[in-house]
Amino acid sequence: MLRLLSRKVGSLVYPVNQVRPRFKSQLSVAFNQIPATKMSRLKFPFVSPSSSSSGLFGKKDLCSYEGFYELEKQAELRVKGLINEAFSQESANKRKMVEIFDDISNELCCVADLAEFVRTSHPNDNYRQSANLIFSQISQMVERLNTNLELYVKLKDSLDTEKSKLDECDTRVCKLFLADFEQSGIHLDRSSRSKFVAINDQLVNLLMKFQINSQQPSLINVNDLDPKYQHVLKYFRDPIQVDTMYINSDDELIREFVYKSFLQENKVQEGFFKSIISKRKEIAKLCGFESYSHRANINMIMDSPPKIVKFLDQCSKVIEQKSIDDYEKMSEFKRTKLNSSQPLHQWDVPIISSRIKKTLLDLDRSQYLNYFSLGTCMEGLNLILNNVFNVNLEMQKLKPDESWHSDIYKLAVKENSNNSLLGYIYCDFYQRAEKFSNVDCHFTIQCSKLRQDNTYQLPIVVLHLNFPPPGKDRPTLLSFEMMENLFHEFGHAMHSMFAKTRYQHVSGTRCSTDFAEVPSQLMEFYCRDPRILKKFAKHYATNEPLDDRTIEKLCQSKKMFTSCELQNQILNSMLDQAFHLEDFSERPVDIIEKYTQKYHHLPYVKDTYWHLRYTHLVGYGAKYYSYLVSKAIASKIWSECFEKDPLNSTAGELYRKKLLEFGGEKQPMELISSLIGIDVGSSNLVDSLTKNI
Ligand SMILES: [Zn+2]
Repeated sequence: MLRLLSRKVGSLVYPVNQVRPRFKSQLSVAFNQIPATKMSRLKFPFVSPSSSSSGLFGKKDLCSYEGFYELEKQAELRVKGLINEAFSQESANKRKMVEIFDDISNELCCVADLAEFVRTSHPNDNYRQSANLIFSQISQMVERLNTNLELYVKLKDSLDTEKSKLDECDTRVCKLFLADFEQSGIHLDRSSRSKFVAINDQLVNLLMKFQINSQQPSLINVNDLDPKYQHVLKYFRDPIQVDTMYINSDDELIREFVYKSFLQENKVQEGFFKSIISKRKEIAKLCGFESYSHRANINMIMDSPPKIVKFLDQCSKVIEQKSIDDYEKMSEFKRTKLNSSQPLHQWDVPIISSRIKKTLLDLDRSQYLNYFSLGTCMEGLNLILNNVFNVNLEMQKLKPDESWHSDIYKLAVKENSNNSLLGYIYCDFYQRAEKFSNVDCHFTIQCSKLRQDNTYQLPIVVLHLNFPPPGKDRPTLLSFEMMENLFHEFGHAMHSMFAKTRYQHVSGTRCSTDFAEVPSQLMEFYCRDPRILKKFAKHYATNEPLDDRTIEKLCQSKKMFTSCELQNQILNSMLDQAFHLEDFSERPVDIIEKYTQKYHHLPYVKDTYWHLRYTHLVGYGAKYYSYLVSKAIASKIWSECFEKDPLNSTAGELYRKKLLEFGGEKQPMELISSLIGIDVGSSNLVDSLTKNI
């Protein structure tokens, strides 16, 4: 631990609290056009490798897709060497067992993370297929290691045999590795363990099918159409396809029809859902846990289901009246402005809430959109990073074959104090027909970790977003939500860039789920703060700043109806707990109805199968609530450290050195209290989450 805390901090070039006037790079120029137009690149699709090819992500082996096999072979050889080292008596006194395990994990992750990204995101079939093959081979290798009893015993024994050598950090990471083994049923007898492996395989398969099915449109035969919806035929062809839950239409029946159709019953999907839940129960019981939620939350801040339920219950009570008031506003708008005699329904909420915002604030997208081009927002982000963390984003020229598409930008993150490189961020920002998913996310390609030569492995990440590409005479313009997503994903990226951990197993975003979303949600506070927006919102063509009044209104609009949004998240979190905690004999929709009655102001809509569409319910597996815990912590850090002066570099330095650098190397609550100087209990988290509602 001393090793980490005694690391030298580079002196600041710019005086504390001073906003840097200029930047080293003109990101706005670069990001307001497609990168290929600026760079001389090889033509896509891929051509034969030449001597000037750098290989994907600069990895020489990946000048062609066949290089994946070589990468995997090399990693396997090194893993074998490390396993020999673990069992060798001779080396027993040289390195700690946990260090050897982390090296094994690093070898496997470096190939698996890369393959995971390529198999989902590379436009070339050969690359995708070879990455897929390598990914499954590495997964099998991990499975074999995770069920290798001798290896587990070796690591477990090291807690005693190496006791005098282990510090707090070694012990914590060692225990996290052991917990991974135990979650894979290592401590079970032979027959239970093979049962565990079989159920796990079935689960992987079921989850994949559930995910794919959840995105299929609902098909409705015109002959089966309820007569009251006959007039929807004006808008749809036969058979009617519905691929969204909400539609922005003045016709209430259309809104109702779309909502109910999208959430209609699907027996196959219902079968997958029930199997996933029951197989998870089996796994939990097999490993000796009371429920799947008990098993999933073992290393979380709220490490038991009663704590989670209590937190959600308390939040629900605090926001109850505010959400009643908010929904009442919407009901009144529906009655008076939309002249409807019907009560407010789920399908009304998005359209009515956005119309109220528009009316009350007299705010239209066209008033501000031109002031938030992608380039302008990137300048804004860089302004924050320069001032708060004293680091700079620098546009890099991509080498031939280094990226997977001509749309990609590459950024280097560098310290201002000495220009040293912290890591690389590849930005895959634009929508493409073949892009695997419309979900915005952050991929780790390579983690930081302290190597044997005392240097750090360079972090490399990909930010995967879905912005519309620039037009002929106009750059990409970001809606407020897109800008929030951009800032959010950069929060994750900086967590990876700043990581200075001894072990890759806990590097950057590899911390517990309830802590991993803290840096990303903290960044969102910046784009909702008028003081920050005023510093960078400028017209892409004229450079004219956006007027203060529009900025204030924009930020105000983000504060409206937040209680309704939070109420949805609380209900989802409670359902996620209910499905993974209770033994129930009712149908899933009956559970949804029961919980909606208790936790939501609007009634459940009969015969809607929302759980078959909302993949987070099974995706997070009893951890959906953790997003709210992260949000509460981010809110606490914002109010304690940044709210008064968001660009304060002293606060930024502390946040980086006391929290971000550690990733998951320490308990999250320990990091938070060392940063803000007080212990944060569960009731504090309720206050933080609900205080601005
Ligand atoms: Zn996130």
